[in-house]
Amino acid sequence: MSALVIGRVADGEPLFRSELALARAEPEALLRGLLAVAEVHRASEVVLAVRQDYWSKTRALREALPAAARAASAASVRPLTARALRLHDSYPLNATSVAADLVEQHGVQAAATAPVYGAADLVARGRAQQSDRPPRLVSVVGYVARPAVIEAPLGTPIAQLVARCGGALPAGTRGLGWVPLVNGAASGWLGAQDDVTDEAVSGVFVLPGRHPLVARRATPLADIVRRAASACIGCRICTDVCPAYENGAPLEPHRISALMAKAAAPPAAVDDALALGALCCGGCNLCDVACPADLLPSRLVAALARGLGERGVQVEAASGKPFAIAPRAGRAARRYGIDRLGARLGVSALSPPEPIPQPL
Ligand code: SF4
Ligand code: SF4
Repeated sequence: MSALVIGRVADGEPLFRSELALARAEPEALLRGLLAVAEVHRASEVVLAVRQDYWSKTRALREALPAAARAASAASVRPLTARALRLHDSYPLNATSVAADLVEQHGVQAAATAPVYGAADLVARGRAQQSDRPPRLVSVVGYVARPAVIEAPLGTPIAQLVARCGGALPAGTRGLGWVPLVNGAASGWLGAQDDVTDEAVSGVFVLPGRHPLVARRATPLADIVRRAASACIGCRICTDVCPAYENGAPLEPHRISALMAKAAAPPAAVDDALALGALCCGGCNLCDVACPADLLPSRLVAALARGLGERGVQVEAASGKPFAIAPRAGRAARRYGIDRLGARLGVSALSPPEPIPQPL
């Protein structure tokens, strides 16, 4: 049980607006879901954590929160307090970073161990109470004619989503055609046009097949290891920007890069801190974005984590977070803004969608 439950309205990927669209279209269901999870956890407090640049756009939701909490308190033996707090619009906005932001920025120490629920999950729970099917929203952005947040059932082909947005832009159809980065330009993975949406898909970033972000995703691991061996200068910038490290995990990608660059395969014996660190990686790829030598340390961290996983090494999860949240001194100064990330990825000139759900 947790005294605090956190609800999140904060898309973490550049140009994605799915959580904002849900918060605006379904405020009542979202609040019902938040109060329902508070009841499940027997919580006495809920925090609605809202991305800073969404603050003015979620006024109706925020203003309805205190009255909803009062009504829930009146109907329960347990008093419940509720408040909305701003999150920095920095990347990433996963459960660990949201919790660390609340600890660091607002002094909410209980956030370190509190469960965090995304807007889609909350709306689904709020709708389930009414036996109602929740809408599934997918941000379709990047090189498309009309970026949009689309209401699409599970199993929708990505090609159909892109067609609904007017198709890929001409820049996306030359050469190798277009490819989707599923779940975003920063942390997403290379998909195929005929892939279909599932529970894990919150958005699709459409790119020309020849875009550098596509080439980076397609680089073979052996090439990444060779380049790390020859070009890594040990500057540790990858570690200083790593959100997991900044939130308190023993994850130091510069050390893992050095280790992996020396070995053709993940070594059989790894010191405990390095092993635990690799397993705490959230896959945000920020280390790759920041590396001055244009290397891909995230892939080396992932390779080590995979090797450890195959040997049965696991990390204990606390409250759904893979390590104890303890923001390091100076974290605030090293935050990486989502806008800055978009510029580094070369996608900042592209337009975000209106946060209004569109039918498929
Ligand atoms: S940022 Fe790049 S060059 Fe610097 S230590 Fe990390 S991998 Fe090596
Ligand atoms: S992908 Fe890189 S920056 Fe992100 S959590 Fe993993 S090691 Fe850290």
